[in-house]
Amino acid sequence: MDVNPKDRPYPADTLGMDSSEMRRLGYAVVDAVVQRLENKHCEPAIAAKDPGPLLELLGGALPEDAQPAEASLELLIDSALFYQQHGDHPRYFARVPGPSSFAAIIGEWLGVGFNSIAASWPGGAGPSAVELVVIDWLRQLMDLPEDTEGVLVSGGSQASLTAIAAVRALKGQGCVYLSDQTHASLVRALSTLGFTQQQIRILESDPQHRMSAQSVQEAITVDQGRGLKPMMVIATAGSTNTGAIDPINELADICLEHKIWLHIDGAYGAPAALTDSGKRCLDGIQRADSLVLDPHKWLFQPYDVGCLLIRPGVLENCFNMNPEYLKDVQGNESATDFRNRGFELTRRSRALKLWFSLRSYGVAKFRKAIDYSIELTEFAEAYLRESPQRWEIISPAQIGIICFALRGASPEEHERRAQALSESGFACVTTTKLKGRTALRLCIINPLTTQADITETIDRLGCE
Ligand SMILES: *Cc1c(COP(=O)(O)O)cnc(C)c1O
Repeated sequence: MDVNPKDRPYPADTLGMDSSEMRRLGYAVVDAVVQRLENKHCEPAIAAKDPGPLLELLGGALPEDAQPAEASLELLIDSALFYQQHGDHPRYFARVPGPSSFAAIIGEWLGVGFNSIAASWPGGAGPSAVELVVIDWLRQLMDLPEDTEGVLVSGGSQASLTAIAAVRALKGQGCVYLSDQTHASLVRALSTLGFTQQQIRILESDPQHRMSAQSVQEAITVDQGRGLKPMMVIATAGSTNTGAIDPINELADICLEHKIWLHIDGAYGAPAALTDSGKRCLDGIQRADSLVLDPHKWLFQPYDVGCLLIRPGVLENCFNMNPEYLKDVQGNESATDFRNRGFELTRRSRALKLWFSLRSYGVAKFRKAIDYSIELTEFAEAYLRESPQRWEIISPAQIGIICFALRGASPEEHERRAQALSESGFACVTTTKLKGRTALRLCIINPLTTQADITETIDRLGCE
């Protein structure tokens, strides 16, 4: 480039700001974020508010003229961003927390600031290269074969939807086997894609809330007898309810025998494979034909980023599109056009934050953080077991999740206690239902959480 900025002065950009103003606002945002991160354990784990007052605070007349930036920032910070679940709070134990890390936040900001795009190789070589690198790093962490391909999407739901669409394009219509513990987003993906009720085979889980390999085998035999084609088994590696891991090796054997696709939903649980104990529990995930994991859960990334890892060629076979207006942004044979690996065309780089945080911390720190949570959940179980007259373990500690019940308490009483604790702001805890029984559930994946956080949360849930 032979353009000297001095020779080409630009008129003021209508939507521009002078550089001191950009810096002032930018630094104000950095300060606000860092200040919150330093004090997040002092804020409520979740803050709720009804639509009426919130819309009143944030709405109002369409702003035809410029409003002062400070006041707007303040409104966003104090009202919009305050009233939500704080998934990175050390006592946020509901659903699956989002303990995002600062290096990842920085990576995300950088990408937004440079308006990163990873749609095609010619139009986004750098971000696409970062995405390929990150996908291969994740592949290595999951021990999948070297020729595995992948794509980063908004989360586990989108990743599984993408996988199922691609596998159906490859293998045609057929029956899909899942369990009553499979995440609801997979059933939704199947029905959205037009699978019929007859093809969606939801099997009863075993007493440990795992898919039963025997019932899968039986269902396959029944379906073959009815002239239906078994197409895919969806195994869960870390169920959202209990952390239960389906018997992956047995399911993989069945899939191998019948030439059935093995899709593994490891959205929250797969990162446990970074640790020795988690790796033992997850043995077999390396045999997946496709595997989903959510870096915005247990790999400490801010929302959103989910990852699909899958056998080579399957995505492009389904999603390839090269209309005339995209011909000049089509990579050559050796290049990857990520628009051809999923539903999105224009897509930002979700890889930068992963790349930057994996490099900044090193994988060893990720392993340590995950290991710590697995142990802390075991600590929670041990603490509950110290008071057997009060607490009953409904599902033991499994890769970061434990479910328990207060003896003699009704379902409503459990719900009331979980809600009261969440409303107090001290911690956010939810209930779930397991084989008809209501249980309190903790998902413990935040490396900030302490033993005192656990014991105090349990004590508050159990108090008279
Ligand atoms: C969270 C989760 C999902 C859904 O992922 P999103 O990122 O929320 O779309 C799917 N499966 C499991 C097991 C999960 O824990």
